[in-house]
Amino acid sequence: MRPAGRFVAEVISALAEAADVGVNLLELDALAHRLIRERGAESCYIDYHPSFGASPFGKVLCTSVNDAVLHGLPHDYALQDGDLLSVDFAASVDGWVADSAYSLVVGAARADDLALIATTLRALDAGIASAQPGNKVGDISHAIGAVAREAGLLVSTEFGGHGVGRTMHDDPHIPNDGRPGRGYTLEPGWVIAIEPWFLQATDRIVTDADGWTLRSADGSRGAHMEHTVAITERGPLVLTAREREPAIRGSSSSEHTGQ
Ligand code: MG
Repeated sequence: MRPAGRFVAEVISALAEAADVGVNLLELDALAHRLIRERGAESCYIDYHPSFGASPFGKVLCTSVNDAVLHGLPHDYALQDGDLLSVDFAASVDGWVADSAYSLVVGAARADDLALIATTLRALDAGIASAQPGNKVGDISHAIGAVAREAGLLVSTEFGGHGVGRTMHDDPHIPNDGRPGRGYTLEPGWVIAIEPWFLQATDRIVTDADGWTLRSADGSRGAHMEHTVAITERGPLVLTAREREPAIRGSSSSEHTGQ
């Protein structure tokens, strides 16, 4: 599964680099689609049609902006100064899947957005640190939830992490909060996606009119960070680790022009 993880990491890095003020969400989807074709990979999203989706997804990337946090269906929208963008990308390489998500701000960032993204990243790191062989699924959930609660955030246990393998969503479900010491025991050889997502002031989400995009119920902005992680005898191995970590604060057009 390493090649799939490497490819997904490269795509997330390319998207983070490309995202900027004025860039259209459809251009980001097209970029991901081009990289899939060049690699000979397969999209996990384009034909995806689960019970909670209105129709096959039709795109290869999720782009969730501001009060959208998960499953954002790319549409004709050019990113604006200060937008909080989350990209979520999964693809299959030689029949094995990897899944990763990343949040950043394009242009001038609001302090509360940067804090939300930083908390989400800390929660991801805490979840990964708990993904030790012999630990329970609940230990990961608890570690993620504890970071959120300490930051004063509410946590939804819907749409959390999941097993990854030949398909994108395998058992078990890994909620973003829970009791330690509960659930399945993590065993070497397991591969799981760990994916905290939080909203600034609520844990309630509503489905957009497009039938896919999940938005906060109160207009709060959201952040989402995800890695695909292998459980090994020596501990967690992040398969979607990026060579260079992209900046959480996107490049700013106004900085380029000196305005
Ligand atoms: Mg994902």
